[in-house]
Amino acid sequence: MSSFMEIITIGSGTCVPSLRRAGPCHCIRAYGFTIVIDMSAGSLRRLLRAGIRQDEIDLILITHFHPDHTGEIVPFIFASKYSPSYKRTKPVFIWGPEGISRLMEGFISAWGEWAAPQDDRIVIEEIPVSMPTSQQFPPFVIDTIHTKHTPQSLVYKITGPDGKSVVFSGDTDFCNELIDISKDADLLVLECAAPEGRKVQGHMTPSEAGKIAKRARVKRLVLTHFYPNCDRSDMIDPCQERYQGPVILSEDMMRIVI
Ligand SMILES: [Zn+2]
Ligand SMILES: [Zn+2]
Repeated sequence: MSSFMEIITIGSGTCVPSLRRAGPCHCIRAYGFTIVIDMSAGSLRRLLRAGIRQDEIDLILITHFHPDHTGEIVPFIFASKYSPSYKRTKPVFIWGPEGISRLMEGFISAWGEWAAPQDDRIVIEEIPVSMPTSQQFPPFVIDTIHTKHTPQSLVYKITGPDGKSVVFSGDTDFCNELIDISKDADLLVLECAAPEGRKVQGHMTPSEAGKIAKRARVKRLVLTHFYPNCDRSDMIDPCQERYQGPVILSEDMMRIVI
């Protein structure tokens, strides 16, 4: 069993259709577990391309309810009920901010029984948004705190048994909560939706991302969630003016080991 964490970018884009960048989805494989963070439409097929079968997924973490982060939840449930090849009997956990149960009920009222999780095979857990939380998902510890994006948006920090940690910001504007939770993380996967000078409210620019990484003293920084104009702009220099550590621009199917 691996004693390192492998982080795979399944989709480095946004809601904007792009041939280069699929919508938001990341995956961690470590200690025999597979954790998926956010699920944009089409994620199951792209996970498969990365070598990850649907029935290997143990935990899905949802950062917030925007459709580009939740679009594959119904296809995931549907495929776990009706794929003839689906063999998994252990439950899959879906954790998300308060309100995720209501979102799931909404899916059922829209699609009917087709969207209803089967038996106890999918377990939904709501995470409080009003305060920081820390929960066990053995052998991992998963911390959350509310971010500045929507009333429910959460950032997740996943720490392995050897103390190594990776933080997934989800969508967020600049906020001190992000600095607090990212303190000394081995890897910060941080949204940076817009180029310098083209700030979009609720999202970050490269210099803001650099400020977060510097203040949190993270060991490595990955920027992701790029609108198409990011690919025509310098996303590195304005970030590295603030943060002198390694900055990586994510691409779909990129793999990083910590
Ligand atoms: Zn988004
Ligand atoms: Zn969003």
